[in-house]
Amino acid sequence: MDSLQHTEDTPLRDSMTTPPLLLAGAGHAHLVMFRRWLDSGYRPPPGTALINPDRHAWYSGMMPGLMAGRYGAEQCAIALAPLCRELGIRLIQDVVRSLDAASNTMRLGSGMVLGYQCLSINTGSQPPAPPEDDGSIQVVPAKPFPALHQAWSDWRDQAPPARLGVLGGGAAAIELALAMRASLADTELHVFSASELLAQQPFGLIQRVHEMLAERRISVHTQTRITRIEHCHVMAEMRPICQLDALVLASGAAPLHWYADSGLAQDGQGFLCATETLQSTSHPNVFVSGDSASLPGSKKSGVYSVRHGPVLADNIQSFLQDRPLTRYQPQKKALALLATADGGALTNVGGWTLGGRLIGRWKDWLDQRFMARHRVENAPGDDTDH
Ligand SMILES: Cc1cc2nc3c(=O)[nH]c(=O)nc-3n(C[C@H](O)[C@H](O)[C@H](O)COP(=O)(O)OP(=O)(O)OC[C@H]3O[C@@H](n4cnc5c(N)ncnc54)[C@H](O)[C@@H]3O)c2cc1C
Repeated sequence: MDSLQHTEDTPLRDSMTTPPLLLAGAGHAHLVMFRRWLDSGYRPPPGTALINPDRHAWYSGMMPGLMAGRYGAEQCAIALAPLCRELGIRLIQDVVRSLDAASNTMRLGSGMVLGYQCLSINTGSQPPAPPEDDGSIQVVPAKPFPALHQAWSDWRDQAPPARLGVLGGGAAAIELALAMRASLADTELHVFSASELLAQQPFGLIQRVHEMLAERRISVHTQTRITRIEHCHVMAEMRPICQLDALVLASGAAPLHWYADSGLAQDGQGFLCATETLQSTSHPNVFVSGDSASLPGSKKSGVYSVRHGPVLADNIQSFLQDRPLTRYQPQKKALALLATADGGALTNVGGWTLGGRLIGRWKDWLDQRFMARHRVENAPGDDTDH
């Protein structure tokens, strides 16, 4: 996989260009939007551009399976070049550094400045880190995925950490801990959670997860809020909890830094407030979806981001054509399938905890169906660097 570099066809450093539609981030909602546009025959206006740091969109649901050795990287990521080519979208491999919604301009990591008439933000979130860190251990956020993948590949192929921690008590943290055990057999593994594991789930499922973690030699520290890293120790306030060599952050969702100074309306946490039509509550020419959005009834998960996609596709098209917009209605519940790194998965159906290979095969089928549906085959000349 490629590292961050500017590879737009005509470099425009420090110059100003104003595409009619600018798409920031190749998140789940934008992928679904692209598929809907492909299926309906709609093509966005000429000059539309997508900014994404990587030439691939990684699918979070399969990342733990990748680290458990169950998938290759090429199965877990969608190449953006063929998708963009099919839709007539310019792919700019770069990162948004800042946004000024008052002047409709965006500055990228390369220094390029872009204006826009309409903007859609689907750049996701990042896991929060312990507020104090003296840099004595390697800290790897679970997102962005290319960096996590690189760190994990180095551990697996070169130097596995003797002691590895996973910060977080949700499904992503547990899946990653189980996956690390599958690929790093001799590493001492710990999970740290500020509350109980899977706090919203029924007791039966929580118990099954505790049993599984114990069977796989993973130590669990619940009710342990890690606030500091000091002298190779993770600490809860001033109390040393454990000595580590590396820590993976799967600690939930925090806003990206540049949301704060964007001028877009934000909630108390710093996520971008959106209406039911997925427009910014302060700037109607800016659409917000996925984890970046603060939207009543919607949660920070891939499942909810995917459901934003069709509404986003229709509403951006309608906005550009000056037609009425439709409303997004969040589903009340979402199916949670927790991959157990051995081909199996756990789930909760009507208060019953179900698990095993059959559930795992079901999860595989759902994940692979998503990938097949949103992938566009590479044409000769496309950048395929998997
Ligand atoms: C290990 C793990 C496993 C998970 N498993 C599941 C699961 O099984 N089911 C589920 O529902 N949820 C899961 N989640 C949560 C899920 O990943 C997120 O909720 C989901 O990815 C959010 O989607 P999104 O559409 O907001 O954008 P994302 O999918 O997060 O994508 C954001 C995109 O924007 C790009 N980007 C980021 N910053 C910038 C920038 N500054 N400029 C330009 N582009 C940028 C990124 O490279 C990425 O391509 C998991 C999370 C983790 C960490």
